[in-house]
Amino acid sequence: MFPDSVLAPLRAARRVAVLTGAGISAESGIPTFRDALTGLWARFRPEDLATPEAFARDPALVWRWYRERRQRLRTVEPNPGHRALVALEGRVPELTLITQNVDGLHARAGSRGVVELHGNITRVRCFAEDTPVEEWPDTEAVPACPRCGGPLRPDVVWFGEMLPPAALERARAAAGGCDVFLSVGTSNLVEPAASLPWLASARGAPVLIVNPTADGQRAGPGIHPLLGKAGVVLPALLREAWPE
Ligand code: NAD
Repeated sequence: MFPDSVLAPLRAARRVAVLTGAGISAESGIPTFRDALTGLWARFRPEDLATPEAFARDPALVWRWYRERRQRLRTVEPNPGHRALVALEGRVPELTLITQNVDGLHARAGSRGVVELHGNITRVRCFAEDTPVEEWPDTEAVPACPRCGGPLRPDVVWFGEMLPPAALERARAAAGGCDVFLSVGTSNLVEPAASLPWLASARGAPVLIVNPTADGQRAGPGIHPLLGKAGVVLPALLREAWPE
């Protein structure tokens, strides 16, 4: 049962901004970053693999990590949390879905115009030229750029790199102009995405936080923790806000 302070603004909202993180894909079987380094990868920290320095030092190692994650992606499906956000898009006049995830599961679920703040591991670009490459073989060895012959890298934002400016601009505009902000499955630690809910809250929009734990999340007036898994809480929220 959700309180009226959550349901009423959602039903009345003209513009909703949603920010998702690794937690929404956890129920699809994709580990969150802190859980991702298991098995062969347990001796690494994300910072050892997800930086330009790591790639320059050992491109084969970093490529292998991303290739394994891409292969895993082919075996998983979007879950009820992803699908509930597709349904929400059909309920409100304007919804901007901003994600820190690099797995493409929102688009696979049917969400449109997803703002990918951290890129997508199914795409690549040239490490030296920083330009996208459309056709490439997903080989075990690092493929070479068809133009310069240098190594190709995943098209993601690594630690210490800038976010794509256009995506960040869209995200900030959506957060600053929304009537309700929904934060789902993110620890809200990685800037600048972590500041987005507070852009909304500073303008008086309620912030709904869907996460199994309130640990590490901000609390205060206008901030509503909806404790639980995204795949359970989001469909329930939709059902209660718009009963058939
Ligand atoms: P994070 O790993 O820091 O935090 C995940 C959050 O999800 C935690 O707060 C956790 O309590 C919560 N969570 C776990 N299970 C959940 C569930 N079933 N429903 C709702 N919430 C749940 O992730 P982050 O905040 O996204 O930041 C880490 C970085 O890791 C991001 O930049 C992201 O790009 C990257 N990453 C992406 C993927 C992916 O694309 N699926 C996976 C791992 C890491």
